[in-house]
Amino acid sequence: MSLIEGTAKRQSATAGGGCPAWCVFDHGRNAQPVILHESLPVVIEISVARDDSIPEWIDVRTAQYRPEDSDELPAPPAVELSYHRGYRYRVITLTAKEARQLATTLFTAAAHADNLEQTTPTGSQCERRS
Ligand SMILES: [Zn+2]
Repeated sequence: MSLIEGTAKRQSATAGGGCPAWCVFDHGRNAQPVILHESLPVVIEISVARDDSIPEWIDVRTAQYRPEDSDELPAPPAVELSYHRGYRYRVITLTAKEARQLATTLFTAAAHADNLEQTTPTGSQCERRS
């Protein structure tokens, strides 16, 4: 089944509304799921783990949940960033705006770590900040 066929099938399976393009949730299998829509996770393995024997990774997905009261409108989809360490994990839920801010910050920090930006002469800029 192609991705387009799968999307069409999912859309026909949901009552009203249909799925956003990013949704991969199997609506046919769950009659009353807590999850309304869910994207595929992107998994980032952490290469510099604190302990070599415990794997660490981050996964990022978009999710939208069914409201507790069926009369309520669902909250907008959110970005879920989950930090896993072995069997334990912690989910951080971000709005689209917060996720973009984090992405920008990570991009900048990664550029610093890559040393892509021009370095300033020692002691010139860093000392002025304090
Ligand atoms: Zn869906």
